[in-house]
Amino acid sequence: MPATPPLRELRAGARVVAIPLRRRFRGVDVREAVLLEGPAGWTEFSPFVEYDDAEAATWLAAAIDFGWNAPPAARRDRIPVNATLPAVPATDVPAVLALYPGCRTVKVKVAERGQALADDVARVAAARAALGAEGRVRLDANGGWNVDEAEHAVHALAPFDLEYLEQPCASVEELAELRSRLHDWDIPIAADESVRKAADPLAVARAGAADLLVIKAQPLGGIHRALEIVGDAGLPVVVSSALDTSIGIAMGAHLAAALPELPYDCGLATVGLFERDVVADPLVPVDGAIPVTRPVPDADALDALAAPPERTTWWLDRLERCHALLASRVE
Ligand SMILES: [Mg+2]
Repeated sequence: MPATPPLRELRAGARVVAIPLRRRFRGVDVREAVLLEGPAGWTEFSPFVEYDDAEAATWLAAAIDFGWNAPPAARRDRIPVNATLPAVPATDVPAVLALYPGCRTVKVKVAERGQALADDVARVAAARAALGAEGRVRLDANGGWNVDEAEHAVHALAPFDLEYLEQPCASVEELAELRSRLHDWDIPIAADESVRKAADPLAVARAGAADLLVIKAQPLGGIHRALEIVGDAGLPVVVSSALDTSIGIAMGAHLAAALPELPYDCGLATVGLFERDVVADPLVPVDGAIPVTRPVPDADALDALAAPPERTTWWLDRLERCHALLASRVE
């Protein structure tokens, strides 16, 4: 890991933003982030507010990696991305998909609490109908099923030709059990929530719990570290975001660009969930893909989205504590 830059260097260009969301997501209405300007370009530090400093420090390592180091060589200059369909009624499906022009892949949220399997079937059927036979439909249960429920759901949903099933159950043990039960179905299992820390991908791979991994640059400590982890795990991956601004999305795009193989469309089309982004030209999909670029924040947007003083202080204090933790890890 490269040396940690001095705190004053991080603080010098730091801007704390608070971005309203179009609809509540992950229990929040406002996404907060710190944008930092390093010698390699702008970068983002945005661990979720409930994370402790030890976990958040890994996100700072990612921010430093992207802002202070040259990214690895890009193998592609645009990244195909997927649409995301929340657990909406089937009648709303065409309107949601219209927000993702040109996307051939849709991730459909299923196993929503308070809904029935029939709701999932109707939503997935509507997604398949909207995309046509050529489209790719993947499901994300966010760990909402037990093994029996997941098996039952697969029987009902497999006729819609599924690309893969993401985190059908919560635990690695359940994923492994389901995967062995679905052996004859040829529906790959993806691990998402089971992959949050650097040690997780190897644990999932060793347990035989997944066919592919959903990975994010920030929680894994940055692009370079994520590439090492992916290589060690030996499984195909989908690069996703953690509800980042376009600056953090660019980090994910550079990770996706550096991967030797990119068989799956990436979960990097989330900027549209914000009411406004920090750049003038947000990284939203055009013809189903986003470009691999190095966006620069827009001065007016930074002013308009500036976090209130007490939140700015909270984030800069957190930055300082995480910086101290990182510096102690390196030495
Ligand atoms: Mg997921």
